[in-house]
Parts: sequence; structure tokens; C-alpha cells
Amino acid sequence: MTRRLRPAPFAGHPLVSPLQASVVYTADTPSELDAMYVERSGYTYSREGHPNAATLARMIDTLEGVEGGVVTGSGMGAVALALLARLGAGDHALGSTQLYGRSLRLMVEELPRLGIATDLFDPTDAASAAALIRPETRAMLVEVVSNPTLRVADIAGLAALCRDHAVALIIDNTFTTPRGFAAFDHGADIVLHSVTKLLSGHSDAMLGWVAAREPEVNARLDVLSATWGTTPAPFDCWMAERGLLSFPLRHERAEANAAALAQALAEMEGVTRVLYPGRADHPDHARAEALLGSHGGTMVSFEIAGGRAEADALAKAAPMPFAPTLGDIATTLSHPATSSHRALSVEGRAALGISEGFFRLSVGVEPVAELLTGLERAVAAARQA
Ligand code: PLP
Repeated sequence: MTRRLRPAPFAGHPLVSPLQASVVYTADTPSELDAMYVERSGYTYSREGHPNAATLARMIDTLEGVEGGVVTGSGMGAVALALLARLGAGDHALGSTQLYGRSLRLMVEELPRLGIATDLFDPTDAASAAALIRPETRAMLVEVVSNPTLRVADIAGLAALCRDHAVALIIDNTFTTPRGFAAFDHGADIVLHSVTKLLSGHSDAMLGWVAAREPEVNARLDVLSATWGTTPAPFDCWMAERGLLSFPLRHERAEANAAALAQALAEMEGVTRVLYPGRADHPDHARAEALLGSHGGTMVSFEIAGGRAEADALAKAAPMPFAPTLGDIATTLSHPATSSHRALSVEGRAALGISEGFFRLSVGVEPVAELLTGLERAVAAARQA
């Protein structure tokens, strides 16, 4: 048996993308291989690119209204490539204080090791970023809606600041999604996603996506991906392609559920605070309306009275899985004080408004009545604890 045997040809095109597991692609002659490298046409070695990644990248490109995006092996891979594409030793970068924990660590611990100075700013206050701009500031990383307090960044103010100082605005659109926020239309130079979350939507594929407005930066992202080795696995891309097909439907339903849950929680005895950008009582509601329109998002945070005992009772009685992630097709409950924000001191968490009674729901597509009765039971269990 020889590897030179090719699959038997057949007529017709498969409706479902073939899963292409091959790491290596053959050419018939050295000249053909040479041409493929020079023209970057066809595939040679899957770290340099493969059909499943290319298909998925094109699908997300369409959602974000851009061409030439790159899929990475995780959302953090996308964050890293975005920063690496714009920064080098001697440069300065700004990051939001409310970034996802690993993104914060990348900014605060890893970039300085490469000779890149970093500072953090309050994303709801563009003046706090303006005060930190230096002549060598080259990039700013921000999320539109923060986790888990769901504060809305002053994207208009930050975009104007970046434009005035030739700073690349990098927007992590994971939470807001392309359906909820058109990041390039709001001044982003680079947009990225943890595709692991809402876009793929089933907690079974670990992926990221990153794209720039300028084609030259996309070419740079492509080279960085192959060189730093952030290329995704074909199987994950294949799974995410399937998940992405239902993304608009899932998102529409989950947003409607989230709005209904936020309203019900606000009326529930024992719930002391509800945070949902779509509600009039949200601290950034006006900004949320301006940036997100009717898209209140799929995350709802709330607080109950009491401490760890009450939190344990609620999680135990809740019908939804207690899991430190987001964006699954089903609703999940998380407790930031013991997961995403556990590295902070009690005082640090208090400054962000995260107490032991603080929970975040990543809302899914279940029948909303089921979620409501389950939550009522869970909140009641906490009150009795
Ligand atoms: N950005 C945001 C907003 C996230 O929530 C996460 C993960 O939770 C990431 C980036 C990193 O994505 P991944 O876990 O796919 O590496």
C-alpha cells in the first residue's frame, strides 16, 4: 500500500464541509510546490493553513463584514496575535482594567517581558485612557461589555482617542458578538473573538478568530499564526462551522431569555441587584442603547443577600449547570468570586462590586418558563440557608 493512492473520485459536492485531518499536503512536482508557497495558493502543511480553518474564517469574516480573518487555536491565541501584530519592543500598549483575566495577564505580565510597556485604564472613562497615552502608544485592547459586571465601554470616546493618536483599537467582541455589535463600524482596527464561546456555542471546540480592517495587517496575522503556532485543529473548526450555522437563531432566543430573566430576577425576593445592559436601571444603559441598540446581550448578573453559605445553597438548587464559562447553547451559572476573579483580594472584588452573593448567568435557549421556575427555587433555597 502506498500513500500515493488517491481517494476514488466521485460526482457531486458534499453539502457538509469535509473534515480534512491531513497535516501534510502533497504536490506533484517541486515546481508546483514552489508555486504554492510563492502564491500562497493551495495547502502545504496544516500549521500554515488548512481547508477547515479557511472555511470557518470566511464564515466569521462574513458576520463581521471583513475579509482575510484568521482562525486560531483559542481565543487567547487571537488576543496574542492581535497584540503581536501591532507591537514590538519599545512600544506602549493600553488595556482595559475589565479585560478577561488571561488577557489582563498577557498585558501585565507577558508584554513587559518582551519590552512592551503597558498601562490599564477604566473602559467606561475615555479620559482615563487619554491621560495614559504616550508618543510610543501603539495599541489599545478593550471589550465592549465587561465580565461579570457588564459595564459598557465608552467605545466612541476610545475610538476617537485612538484615531487622534494613531493607536490601533483592538476590540474583543466575544461577549457582544457580531450580531450585537458591529465593531469595525465603531472604529475598531482589529476585531477578535473567543469562538469557543457564543459563535461555536456548544462548549466542544476551543478556537479564536482575529481580523484587521487593513489587508496588510491580516497578512501579518496569517504569518504570525503559522510562526507562533496558533493554528487550530481541523476537527474544532469543523465542529464550530456546524455551531456557527445556528448562531443567529441561538443568539436571538438567548437574548430574549436573558431580558426575561433579568426582569424576573429584579422582582424576586432575596435578589438585591440585577445587572443587564438592556435594562433602564443599568449604570451604562444610555451607552448600551447607543452602541448595542436592542441587543441587551445574553449575560445577566445578579446578587443575593448573604455570603458563601447562601451562594452554595443557590448553586446547589439551581437547575442550570454551575460552570465557569459562557456562551453555551444551554444556560450556565457562574460565581466570579471563586472562579474568574478568585485571584483578586476581597477588597479588589468589592471595588468591582463582586461579592460572595454575586452570580453571572450565561443564558441559553431553553424554554424560559423552565429557567424562571428553577431560578425562583434556587433563590428561595439561598434565603433559607
Ligand atoms: N476574551 C473573552 C472576553 C473571554 O471571555 C475569553 C474566555 O473566556 C477569552 C477571550 C479567551 O478565550 P479562550 O478561552 O477561547 O482562549
